[in-house]
Amino acid sequence: MKSYTEYLFFNTEKRYDILNITPQVEKAIDKSGIKEGLCLVNAMHITASVFINDDESGLHKDFLDWVERLAPFGKDKYRHNMTGEDNGDAHLKRTIMGREVVVAVTKGKMDFGPWEQIFYGEFDGRRKKRVLVKVIGE
Ligand code: ZN
Repeated sequence: MKSYTEYLFFNTEKRYDILNITPQVEKAIDKSGIKEGLCLVNAMHITASVFINDDESGLHKDFLDWVERLAPFGKDKYRHNMTGEDNGDAHLKRTIMGREVVVAVTKGKMDFGPWEQIFYGEFDGRRKKRVLVKVIGE
């Protein structure tokens, strides 16, 4: 069995953002040379997410509005922020939106359902963060 590891780096200008990272993951799978297997993609920070959904800008705003309603930003709203941090909301948003995705690789391509794309969800941006891509198979 072969394996291939790559790290993607992001540094969003905004505190909250959603980026389509499907092209970068496709490139990693191409580089891996793996035709049949699995591809894991996970955020390596506890205030950022990786998830699969539709590449539709209205939906992305809906996601950001939804997590803001569930876990609104606010320095005084969270016990976590009593440590001196201000990102208590971002930890909760990350957990709601998920840490990782696993996609089947078939004939060298990600075997997506209709409209599926991979997104990086940032909830405490403006600093450098990593995403792990691990491809295993033959
Ligand atoms: Zn924190």
